[in-house]
Amino acid sequence: MKRQKSFENNKATLYLVATPIGNLSEFSSRAIEILKLVDVIACEDTRTSRILLEKYGIKKKLVAYHNFNEVDSAKGLLALLENGDDVALVSDAGYPLISDPGYHLVNEVIAHDFNVVTISGPSAHLNALVASGLDTMHYLYYGFLSDKRSKAQKELSDLSDLPYTLIFYEAPHRIKKTLALAFEILGKRRACIARELTKKHEEYIRGDLEELMALDDLKGEIVLLIEGKKEKARAFDEYMIFQMVSTYIEEGLSSKDAIKKVAEDTKINKNQVYEDYLKLAQN
Ligand code: SAM
Repeated sequence: MKRQKSFENNKATLYLVATPIGNLSEFSSRAIEILKLVDVIACEDTRTSRILLEKYGIKKKLVAYHNFNEVDSAKGLLALLENGDDVALVSDAGYPLISDPGYHLVNEVIAHDFNVVTISGPSAHLNALVASGLDTMHYLYYGFLSDKRSKAQKELSDLSDLPYTLIFYEAPHRIKKTLALAFEILGKRRACIARELTKKHEEYIRGDLEELMALDDLKGEIVLLIEGKKEKARAFDEYMIFQMVSTYIEEGLSSKDAIKKVAEDTKINKNQVYEDYLKLAQN
């Protein structure tokens, strides 16, 4: 077990700084302050980050940290922390580590007992979720589905029984195929496409999967949200089942036969009838 009191020790810190997902004005004063304070900024793409940093007058040493050099670059960043330097990690947009590099680095930094601190900001999946109109109480962020059809099919099948809003990131050239596959596996569920969030052409398209898959003009950066599996409303609730079984028993049937009879009458599975009956019979 490790406990980190982020602001009550003198250890070097890795700051995970969320950056705007489109509108560059969505950058907090704390994020700017931290980026001005650290010794080095590790970026997914130094050209992309430079645009943001220049806008806010942040002049810092930038080092590349992307999917292809994670292990080597993490070693270099750890050496900086060991030297007492503070480091910030930013990705091209949104939170680092959310469908972006950084997972390896964070674990290395935790293992070596330095601080890991998040500086809040936007993430496309949260912006999309709260405006989608779909259930926000429970949701599952999945990120990108596999680009191999058979693997994506399996991923969607594995998610198909979950009663939570499902959130995917998708590229514009794949969205039509993904929507068709999702409709094939999940059926006609409510869904929302959130496109180009915080940018000039931001758009929310709310409908169902069948309607969305017919669209031909889905460009830009896309979040796809699909409603979770809906529990079918029960025609006979537990109390009704208990009453029906009890009545048959009073009429002289054994409990086993009464359960069988109620299962036939209601077309509900025998085990479910037994479970419902037992639940109330025990009270
Ligand atoms: N780290 C980012 C985050 O926290 O949201 C996600 C990075 S991921 C490599 C890029 C994907 O995020 C895009 O393909 C798109 O699905 C989604 N995305 C990023 N910015 C977006 C925006 N402004 N509007 C809609 N989706 C966006």
